[in-house]
Amino acid sequence: MGGHHAASGAAAWVAIASTGPYTLGWYPLDATGILIGGMATAGTALVCDWDHRHSTVANSLPPLSNVIARGIETASGGHRQGTHSILGAAFFVVLAMLAGQIQVQTSWGLLSVGAGLLCMFMINIAAKALKLFPKSGFISNWIFALVMAGLVTWFAPHQWTWLPVSMLTGVVVHIVGDMITTGGVPLLWPIVIKPPRFLRKLPVLNDVWKANGAFSLPLLGRAGSRREWLVLIPVSAYAMVGMCVAAWAVARATLPAAAALGKTAVSRFLGAG
Ligand SMILES: [Zn+2]
Repeated sequence: MGGHHAASGAAAWVAIASTGPYTLGWYPLDATGILIGGMATAGTALVCDWDHRHSTVANSLPPLSNVIARGIETASGGHRQGTHSILGAAFFVVLAMLAGQIQVQTSWGLLSVGAGLLCMFMINIAAKALKLFPKSGFISNWIFALVMAGLVTWFAPHQWTWLPVSMLTGVVVHIVGDMITTGGVPLLWPIVIKPPRFLRKLPVLNDVWKANGAFSLPLLGRAGSRREWLVLIPVSAYAMVGMCVAAWAVARATLPAAAALGKTAVSRFLGAG
């Protein structure tokens, strides 16, 4: 299920950061923001399941991430409880905003350490869920995440403002995804409002507002159903196309800069020698 959430997260980001603004005539994010934000949102679409000790996030950085998973599980009342609610979503967004505040003054300028680390963590879990490196997972996932977060830090440090938006997008996509495919989520957690007895007998409503107070949108049947795949395939293809176009643009923009940087370094080295 992790891969499904991740792919929908990336697709939602491409829509918000690129397709949507173009259609509406607004100025979209530049290619770095689309590419790296897309990868980050594939990751933020997984954080809600940090309340489960065997989820992708929980196993991303053992043993710390496992310990945190147990903490979240206890604090949020178990799997698919507090983290799958409006309050849980707000919590993750505030966390991303706080991370953006952690900056360190270095000789290269102000470095957004908090945002960089959070983005790196999100991209790492995305790479894992999407199985980008199926053979040599752990190390390559982290190296990939480091390079991606490094790209932003180096080429577009002012762009970190999109990180809380990425978090909001990912979390909303996750919760909606679970509402569509699973037995429902407690949106108003910790408040549980159960439907009155007479409403529980109404055919459609009793699927949307469950007797236990959870909400669901049972459009796609059970998780892993054929209908789910029918939606997922075009969604993933859309995300792939958007990200590849962005990746191409980033490569075209950054390769000459990287080459120039290398040239300067070499000439300085030769000059010094
Ligand atoms: Zn979930």
